[in-house]
Amino acid sequence: MKKFFIILIIAIVGLSANAQTPAIGNTFVGNNDVSANKKPVNISQQQIKHQELSLNLNNQQEVKNFNSYVNAHKNEIKTNKTAYTIPVVVHIIYNTSTQNISDQRVFEQINRTDSDFAGLSLHSMGAFPDSLKANTGITFCLASVDPNGNATNGITRTHTTVTSFSPTGGYASCTGYPERCSASGGVDAWDVTKYLNIWVCNMGNGLDGISEFPSGTLNNFYGTTIHYQFFGLGGATAPYNEGATLTHELGHCLNLYHLGTDNTCADADYCPDTPAEYGTDSTISGGCVIDLCNTTCPGIMYMNFMSYSDDAVMANFTPDQAARMQACISNYLMNVVNNATSICGTSGIQEQYSNYSVKIYPNPMTDILTIESLSQTTIKIINIQGQTIMQQKLKQGKTDFDIRGLAKGVYVLSLSSNDKSEVTRIIKE
Ligand SMILES: [Zn+2]
Repeated sequence: MKKFFIILIIAIVGLSANAQTPAIGNTFVGNNDVSANKKPVNISQQQIKHQELSLNLNNQQEVKNFNSYVNAHKNEIKTNKTAYTIPVVVHIIYNTSTQNISDQRVFEQINRTDSDFAGLSLHSMGAFPDSLKANTGITFCLASVDPNGNATNGITRTHTTVTSFSPTGGYASCTGYPERCSASGGVDAWDVTKYLNIWVCNMGNGLDGISEFPSGTLNNFYGTTIHYQFFGLGGATAPYNEGATLTHELGHCLNLYHLGTDNTCADADYCPDTPAEYGTDSTISGGCVIDLCNTTCPGIMYMNFMSYSDDAVMANFTPDQAARMQACISNYLMNVVNNATSICGTSGIQEQYSNYSVKIYPNPMTDILTIESLSQTTIKIINIQGQTIMQQKLKQGKTDFDIRGLAKGVYVLSLSSNDKSEVTRIIKE
């Protein structure tokens, strides 16, 4: 697949120090109208970093049916958000040792994606209210049981002679997704009705991720592929080294689209609470950014995970996007989430805290939750509605919490200190 390029003009306005002074993005060369106050100062080429092809995108009737379902049920979904856990398996396919990324990097990635989906990103919403940073109610867990019933850490490792896979997607075939087939040097999916498959490899074609949207009957290519350089945090390559590539691609796997596509102001993503964008955004560093569709602040939502921005500014899914993903699960992925109870491990979660020396047990919990910490850390327990049930600064050492008053269910447990934040999922039985 050839590489796609967008030529954009990065323009600025004024020299005011006012933080609300908007920068101008998304002003595309072509038959556009760069108005007098939008002075072009630089022209650069920005490579599109994602590509997504979908069966249901090709089936317009299925898209229409799904959108009708979302419209009919959106308010109800928002009021009664469901806690969903999606079991995942990460297939690392490597030709060189550098491509064989560490378990630690996988743990960091899943934790960060959980944090992103829980609405706990520490990144700024710019001129938008924080209420547009939704807790989606969706978490991911590395599988602890493989399709043969054997124990696993949810990570497979396969050496390949293929130096780069260059997936082009589409047609649910080994030709479109060579990394997803053992016959072409990749790895076959684990049962797509039980696991969401994530492949990590050298994509080699200028893409950092490619995803398959779900369809009525999930095919063996459902899931996402991430370039190994942009998976995880420590050791990943800037500017995509904060885990947002997987978060973005999983958004596609759950039926989210980009905020802008063509150079129009049409609603491209079927989510009214994301502003339509003129084209797609990129190379934005923060603040309020306007475009031809959004000429005043708050401007474009470049910090949305479904944008093309650098990881350092990615901050949110909106409530409408969360509802759409919840609807996607209830329409296409109920078998997958129903298998979470037996497939998701509940032991050893302390290993997944890469930035904190913390042990948390037992999980599932019943009466007492014990937390051992080697440093001062703030802990929060958040319910599925996004409400903080408990918040406490932990001292070094062991602390017992009486959680008998906590209702049964799934909670997000967040650890934070300074600029770091990590989450995991805990269950009260
Ligand atoms: Zn994308």
